[in-house]
Amino acid sequence: MSRDPRYDILFEPVQIGPVTTKNRFYQVPHCNTLGHARPRAEAANRRVKAEGGWGVICTQEVEIHPSSELTPYVEGRLWDDLDIPQHRLMTDAVHEFGSLAGIELAYNASHTMNHYSRIVPMAPSDGIVHGNQPIQARAMNRRDIKNLRLWHVEAAKRARRAGYDIIYVYAAHDMSILQHFLKPHYNRRSDEYGGSLENRVRLSREILTDVKEAVGDTCAVAFRFAVDELRGPDGLQAECEGRDVIGMLAEIPDLWDVNVSDWSNDSATARFEPNEGFQEPYTAFVKSMTTKPVVGVGRFTSADAMVSQIKRGVLDLIGAARPSIADPYLPNKIDAGRIDDIRECIGCNICVAQDNLAAPIRCTQNPTQGEEWKRDWHPEKIQPATSDEQVLVVGAGPAGLECAMQLGNRGYEVMLAEAGEELGGRVNRESQLPGLSSYVRVRDYRESQIVQKPNIQVYKDNRLSAEDILELDIPHVICATGSSWRRDGVGKYHAFPIEGLDGVSVLTPDDVMAGAEIKQRVLIYDDDHYYLGSTMAELCTQQGKQVCLVTPDSLISSWTEYTLEQEKIHARLSTLGVEMITLHALQSVSPEQASMVSVYDANQVRKIEFDSLIMITSRTPDNAVYHDLLAHENKFKTLLAIGDSEAPSTVAAAVFSGHLAARNLGSDEDFYTPLFRREMPGLANG
Ligand code: ADP
Ligand code: SF4
Repeated sequence: MSRDPRYDILFEPVQIGPVTTKNRFYQVPHCNTLGHARPRAEAANRRVKAEGGWGVICTQEVEIHPSSELTPYVEGRLWDDLDIPQHRLMTDAVHEFGSLAGIELAYNASHTMNHYSRIVPMAPSDGIVHGNQPIQARAMNRRDIKNLRLWHVEAAKRARRAGYDIIYVYAAHDMSILQHFLKPHYNRRSDEYGGSLENRVRLSREILTDVKEAVGDTCAVAFRFAVDELRGPDGLQAECEGRDVIGMLAEIPDLWDVNVSDWSNDSATARFEPNEGFQEPYTAFVKSMTTKPVVGVGRFTSADAMVSQIKRGVLDLIGAARPSIADPYLPNKIDAGRIDDIRECIGCNICVAQDNLAAPIRCTQNPTQGEEWKRDWHPEKIQPATSDEQVLVVGAGPAGLECAMQLGNRGYEVMLAEAGEELGGRVNRESQLPGLSSYVRVRDYRESQIVQKPNIQVYKDNRLSAEDILELDIPHVICATGSSWRRDGVGKYHAFPIEGLDGVSVLTPDDVMAGAEIKQRVLIYDDDHYYLGSTMAELCTQQGKQVCLVTPDSLISSWTEYTLEQEKIHARLSTLGVEMITLHALQSVSPEQASMVSVYDANQVRKIEFDSLIMITSRTPDNAVYHDLLAHENKFKTLLAIGDSEAPSTVAAAVFSGHLAARNLGSDEDFYTPLFRREMPGLANG
C-alpha cells in the first residue's frame, strides 16, 4: 500500500524560523509525568513518536527555575546545566529519525505551590495560588521581572545546548506567568506591566524578543498562546483581546501555537467536544494576522480533516497531543496508506487523569503508552510466538479483544469465543450512552485488525462453559469474561447490602443499557464516582424523566476531576434539571421511598420518593468459568482471568490487562515478579 496522493500536502516540509520540519505532523507539548524523575522513559516515549513519523516532537512543560516548580507533579526540569544530559536523551532520540525536538519552557507562577523548593510563589500581583491551597503568591517586583527575563534566556541557551530545535515561550492553559500578566484577573499592577493591554503584553514581548536574541539564529522560537478562555467577557476572548495580542506580537515568534484555555477546554473530552477540529471557531483567525506558521489542535485523527485544515488556511501544522498518544505511528500509517490501521483516540482523558494523579501516563487505546522503556513495549511490534500451541480467549470485551489481537500479532493460533452476537463487551453498551459514542473505537480498531488475521478464529454467539472449554483441550486459556453491576448497593460506602432492597425492583447500569423500562421519577445512587452516574442521569432526562442523583461523595462524579470533566458534568446536569444531592448515602429503601442519610450526621435523614431506582455502586467479576476451570488447573499451561473478570476497572485497565497477558504468554515470568525496569535517582551530584 502507498500514500493516497490526497494526503501529500501533509508530508510537505514547513520552515519554522531557522529550522524546517519534514512534514506537518506536530506533537505539541503534552505532559506524561515521566519527565525529570524518569528521563529514560521520557526519551523512549518521545522516540517512538519520531519513529512513527511525527515531524516535530515536543516536551511537556519544563520548569526553568526552582521558584516555579510543580511538585508533586512530575514534568520536565531545566534549572541548571545538571539537567542537560536528561534532555539530551530525548533530543538525540528524536533527531535519530530526522524530526525536530521542541521544548516548552514554563514558568507557572501562581499555578505552582513550590512544595519542593519552598520558595514563595510569584505572580503579577499579590494573590491567590491555584486550587484550594491555603497559600498566596507575592507580587513580582522589578528585580523579579528582570530575573524572569534572565531565567528564560538562560534556559533557552541551555535548551539549545541540550539539542532542541524549537524553544517555546508559554502563555496558555491558565498555568503560565505570561498568561497571568495578560489577564486583569491576576494582573492588577499600576506600573508599565499592568493596566492597558499594551502594558500587560509587555512581558511576553520582552521575553519573546530576549529568547530570539539569545538563540533565534539557530532555534525557532514558538509562542504558545490561548486565544480564548471560553469564559465570555470574564476572560480573554478571541474576538477581543485574544485577537489584539496576536496583532501586537504577530511577527515576533517564528511559530504560533494557539489553543483555548484552560486545560479542560484545550483537552476537552469527546463527551463535551465530540468533533474533530473543535477549536477551529476560536483559532481560525490567527493565520490571517501573521505570516508565521500556525499550529493548533483539535483531536485530529482523520487525514481528511487534517488536509481540510491546511487547504482551508486554518492551520499550517497539525498539532496533536492525544492522537499521538493513542497512535504514535499515525503519520507513518497515513504515509503508508494504512488509514484503517490508525488507533484513534477516544477522547476519554485517562492520559490526562494520570497526570493529575502525578502518575506516569497511560492510554485507553494504546496500552504501550508509558511502557516503552519500562517494559520495552512498542506500539507496533511484539515478540513472536514461542510455540505453535493454540490459545483460547473467552470473551471479546476490551480485554479479550486486545489479548486476542496481540496473540494473533505474535503468530499464535487463537480462538476467540464471545457469548454475545457482537464483539466489544462493555464498550458496545456504554458507547450507546450520551457522550460516549467514541468508546466504540476501542472495539472497532481491534475488530478490524482481528478480521484480517487468518490465525484468529472468532466465534460469536458462543457462550462457553468450563465443560465446553475442557472438551476443546486447548493448553492456554485466557478468560476475559467481564463483570456485572451489583444490585445490592455494596460499594465504597456500604460493605453490606442495603436494607430493604429485597422488595424493590432495582435497576443496574447493565439493565438500563439492555433497554429496561425506566419509570417517571428516577433515583440514581452513585457510589462509583466515574462517568456512569452522570451519563445515566443524562439518558433519563433525554427520555423525559425526573431525575435525582445522589452520591455519598462531596462532588458529583468526583473521579472526573482527574479527567477535567467534573465541572462540565455538574453544569450539564444542572442545565438538564437533574436534582443533585451530595454527601448522602442510601440508608434504606422501601418500594417508592428511599431514606438518605448524611454521611456526617446520622440524625439527618432525607426521604426521596421514586418509581425507579438505578444502583451504581460496584461490580462483581464474572469469573465463574475461570473458577470452575481452576479445579482442573493442571490440564492447562496457561489459565488466567484478565480484565474486569479479574477485577473490574477502567476500559484502559482491561486493555492493558489483555496486552500484558498476550505479551507474557509462553514466558517464564509470573505476574508478581517485577517485570519492568526502574529508573534509579543518580547519586553523582550531591
Ligand atoms: P472487559 O472489560 O474485561 O473486557 P467486558 O465485560 O467488556 O470485560 O467483556 C466481557 C465479554 O465476555 C462480554 O462481551 C461477554 O459477553 C463475554 N463473555 C462472558 N462470559 C462468557 C463466556 N462464558 N463465553 C464467552 N463469552 C463470554
Ligand atoms: Fe485519547 Fe483516551 Fe488515550 Fe488519552 S487516554 S490519548 S484521551 S484514548
